[in-house]
Amino acid sequence: MRAEVVAVGTELLLGQIVDTNSAWIGERLALSGIDCHFQTRVGDNVARIVTVLRVALERNEAVIVCGGLGPTQDDLTREAIALVMGVPLRRDAEVLATIRDRFVSRGSNQTMTANNEQQADVPEGASVIRQTLGTAPGLICPVGNKVMYALPGVPYELYDMMERAVLPDLRGRAGQAAVIRSRTLKTWGVSESGLAELVAGRVEVLEAGGPGVPTIAFLASGIEGIKLRLTVKAADEDAANKALDAEEAELRALIGECVFGVDEETMEGVIGRLFLERGWNLGVAESLTGGLVASRIVGVPGASEWFRGGIVAYDVGVKMAILGVADGPVVSREAAAAMAEGARQVLGADVGLSTTGVAGPTEQEGRPIGTVVVGLALPGSAPDAVELRLPGDRERVRQLATISAMNVLRRRLLEIGLGA
Ligand code: ATP
Ligand code: MG
Repeated sequence: MRAEVVAVGTELLLGQIVDTNSAWIGERLALSGIDCHFQTRVGDNVARIVTVLRVALERNEAVIVCGGLGPTQDDLTREAIALVMGVPLRRDAEVLATIRDRFVSRGSNQTMTANNEQQADVPEGASVIRQTLGTAPGLICPVGNKVMYALPGVPYELYDMMERAVLPDLRGRAGQAAVIRSRTLKTWGVSESGLAELVAGRVEVLEAGGPGVPTIAFLASGIEGIKLRLTVKAADEDAANKALDAEEAELRALIGECVFGVDEETMEGVIGRLFLERGWNLGVAESLTGGLVASRIVGVPGASEWFRGGIVAYDVGVKMAILGVADGPVVSREAAAAMAEGARQVLGADVGLSTTGVAGPTEQEGRPIGTVVVGLALPGSAPDAVELRLPGDRERVRQLATISAMNVLRRRLLEIGLGA
């Protein structure tokens, strides 16, 4: 069963409102195991709506139209659907009575107009989805062995009718039950092309397809790293999860080190778990990130169990006086390591993490913009540091440095394991 979503409204095309209805419907369809290969947006124009509906019906078994059911001149969905069905519109007495009642119960400050009566027009052969919230009813319009649904654009009305009428009807038509489930592996520290290369062999297997074989997609998401999204269609939740577990294991064997989390997990959340597992706590000393690392960490619920605090040591004098950094270049492995050790001591933490570097706009100490050094001080070993080169302007370098520093820490904690 394939369903296309058609969102009607010129305001959607002009960017005045964002088409959240289609996104929501897409999610609900997936959860019901109904394929959605197309989502289309079209303006308030009967001829163009008709064209889009015909194309959608051609390539799908079901079409879900949202918006344009209201009482104004630009609400053309009913008319377009009747044209596609090749039938006249008939005024439905029951719907009309419901609309009338609604106006009466709202009180005298709103009067019903002839336009409102149009909302009771139903294409011949269509059935009505009773409105419980707004004035416009939804429609179920059979076309041969296919179907078009019309839903109001107002999100809460649409959600209600979709759950109450459209999804049950679609599931009934689809016959066999199925679910579609996704899982996202989040990576840090590799480029999109680097990642593609690492998993190339696996992608080939997945692209060959077959029942129960997930599809794979690469999502580049700005400053949060590259994500790999697996999607699988299966008979039930259990089978879907099994297929996703198996594929996740295959991929982790290839790119395991780069994967920091799954689905909603965040870098800082994962670090928190690693600290709790080890019974350790963390102190940070930040220069170019100026508190961004600490801020993200305290965003994790329960961070007080493993986070001691942070020091923003921006001025050289502060780095020396508070953290014990020696006289010399501050964008260096020596300085970063000393900052991490300083944070550990001053904050009384098991582990110290530090950031220093050149965010720009000008180079510093002869080091280019984007040079970032992350220092680490852990129990049982001398403090050390990792140097990175990050792209972008001042803001981007600082954001990337924040996640990169946490990732350096994550990798090190995993390396030393639980037995340290
Ligand atoms: P009404 O009976 O309220 O006129 P309608 O079916 O005619 O409903 P529209 O006029 O197209 O729907 O949209 C009504 C409101 O619903 C819009 O102003 C907008 O706030 C919201 N809306 C419409 N389409 C979408 C969409 N695709 N995504 C999110 N919100 C939408
Ligand atoms: Mg409207």
